[in-house]
Amino acid sequence: MAKKSLKEQNKGIMTYLYFCDLCGEMEIEHKMSEKIDDCPICKSKNICTKIKRLITKSQGFILCGGGWAKDNYK
Ligand SMILES: [Zn+2]
Repeated sequence: MAKKSLKEQNKGIMTYLYFCDLCGEMEIEHKMSEKIDDCPICKSKNICTKIKRLITKSQGFILCGGGWAKDNYK
């Protein structure tokens, strides 16, 4: 009886604004639990989350840092 509706599957999917050194800004939709490390266009690892839209709209900007997120995941 595990009937999942589309609405439920899309739950938690947010639009994030990413910035790639080569491609510039782009919007990517993915779940909160997912993490985008490389650019979907040029596969560069230089992508980082510039602004987390919708989630942190009221909290302002999250600036591109020198891999602050990756450092924490080691
Ligand atoms: Zn790119």
